[in-house]
Amino acid sequence: MERKVVSFDTLEQKVVFFKTMYEVVRIVDPLMKRVIKYDDNGMVETKDICHDCWGENKICDNCISVRAFFQNDTLMKLEHTLDKVYMVTAIPIETDKRSVVLELLNDVTKSMLLQNDNYSDIKELKKVINNLNSLIVKDSITNLFNKRYINERLPVDIIKAVLEQSPLSIIMLDIDEFKHINDTYGHLIGDEAIKLLGKILEKSIIYNKYWAARYGGDEFIIALNNIGHEEAYDFAEKLRKDIETTIIEINQIKLNITASFGMYTMYKEELTTNELIDLADKNLYKAKKAGKNKVVTNSY
Ligand code: GH3
Ligand code: MG
Repeated sequence: MERKVVSFDTLEQKVVFFKTMYEVVRIVDPLMKRVIKYDDNGMVETKDICHDCWGENKICDNCISVRAFFQNDTLMKLEHTLDKVYMVTAIPIETDKRSVVLELLNDVTKSMLLQNDNYSDIKELKKVINNLNSLIVKDSITNLFNKRYINERLPVDIIKAVLEQSPLSIIMLDIDEFKHINDTYGHLIGDEAIKLLGKILEKSIIYNKYWAARYGGDEFIIALNNIGHEEAYDFAEKLRKDIETTIIEINQIKLNITASFGMYTMYKEELTTNELIDLADKNLYKAKKAGKNKVVTNSY
């Protein structure tokens, strides 16, 4: 679907009208995570970070604005602050200056069939909202993030790294000889092995700085924000050893798995999401070729 180009002046003027229907109307850059304002100097990014209004110091798991931006589609979700529930609508808009997302927020706390100001109802509802928002971006077997999250989060991390000239390290890992585990013990045991590997990855990451996702099948990805090559390599090597030495016990069957790692640190260069994944994937291929259960990274 082709986006109609709207002049930014028009959009700004219309915001006044939209505010008659929505409590909060804001224009955001979903990749920079900034609120955009228009003043005498033209379109300016403010210092306001779009997800700060939710009261949690982190990027929303289920960021519909970035998805609306990439899919070129209007999307809706529920989100909450400490004591209120909001319906959020994200509309991608192509302006003559840049692509933005128009976010429209309405307080729907009172229309959620809650008894007025009933704190425990709101608490329950917040739990449901969190679960729904996480369900969309989580993998059902491992509870790590899924491919959708990778596609929506990695561009944001890349942009941040490029602007701040900070390193971003990506690790791709793939279980060695996993077909053999399935063939020998059956797919259910295979699933359990994937689940346990997910737990090892989850334990290894630093919340809010690193994230881990299941890329598909027996392949996983870990992003290490603001972590340079040496530190990322040490992290990968430690993780590789942790996996190798963990005995997995499922229904009295004891097995241990190994995984091969392909790593790439992007630093002071500009790579797209696909290019970055591809470089890590090439190193993963080299690790498999070199005998598996190894970490291969970019050579400096
Ligand atoms: P390599 O060391 O080269 O990685 O060999 P491999 O046997 O692990 O081969 P590969 O990574 O290409 O294949 C992964 C296999 O994982 C193929 C597929 O049958 C299996 N698989 C993918 N997803 C799942 C899953 O969700 N559960 C189970 N049990 N198996 C899966
Ligand atoms: Mg494999």
